[in-house]
Amino acid sequence: MTPPHPLSRRQLEVLAALEIPVWRRTAADDRPQENRKKDNDTAVNFDHHGLDHADLDRLDWEALEARVARCTLCELHKTRTQTVFGVGNREADWLIVGEAPGADEDRQGEPFVGRAGQLLNEMLRAIGLRREEVYIANILKCRPPRNRDPRPEEVVRCEPYLQRQVALLQPHIILALGRIAAQNLLKTDTPIGAMRGRRYRYGAAGIPVVVTYHPAYLLRSPKEKRKVWLDLKFARQVFAETLESEVEATAS
Ligand code: SF4
Repeated sequence: MTPPHPLSRRQLEVLAALEIPVWRRTAADDRPQENRKKDNDTAVNFDHHGLDHADLDRLDWEALEARVARCTLCELHKTRTQTVFGVGNREADWLIVGEAPGADEDRQGEPFVGRAGQLLNEMLRAIGLRREEVYIANILKCRPPRNRDPRPEEVVRCEPYLQRQVALLQPHIILALGRIAAQNLLKTDTPIGAMRGRRYRYGAAGIPVVVTYHPAYLLRSPKEKRKVWLDLKFARQVFAETLESEVEATAS
């Protein structure tokens, strides 16, 4: 009889979702060593699907984009038309982070196109920024089917790409658009309403993060536009204060 596994069912489910092979003790493991050798000669080598992202920190923008374009680390590669890496000024002060590509983005290979993209452009204009001046990326680089929420295992696999984008860009502020982007970026399950109007920090560099609603949500709930305007003004203030403190730090 196969003995019970030392990991819990939940732990096994998570490992299975990550496609990490789990060794299970079988009767064959209790056989004498010499009898096992023959089996091992024909054993299947497990492919860990490149779980190791350790070399990403050596990649420049072009190499990183090429890596993402051929990524098959999660199931979403099977249903995407193309990857959606990110767009904009690679020396921007502002990084805008959304959730994942939708149908238009999947078709065009660019984040925030279509009606939500136009609204994002208007939001940026409201605080004196042009789309070309900022950098725009998503938590996930491939479209989830039927625009469902990203799954934890997909975020785990994809987020090192965004982390590398942040390291290359070194933005002075990150504007997180919508609950999914904010919660995944900041590793919290705080509701988005409670995250608004607060200054968070991202990564070892402590880059300021401000949260607001996703433009697609605003298209469905236009009455929330006033709140977004307040959030954008707050983000502009955080950005100005960040620059000021950097200037002071350089002068001292
Ligand atoms: S979503 Fe990210 S991790 Fe998954 S296949 Fe696309 S690029 Fe790779």
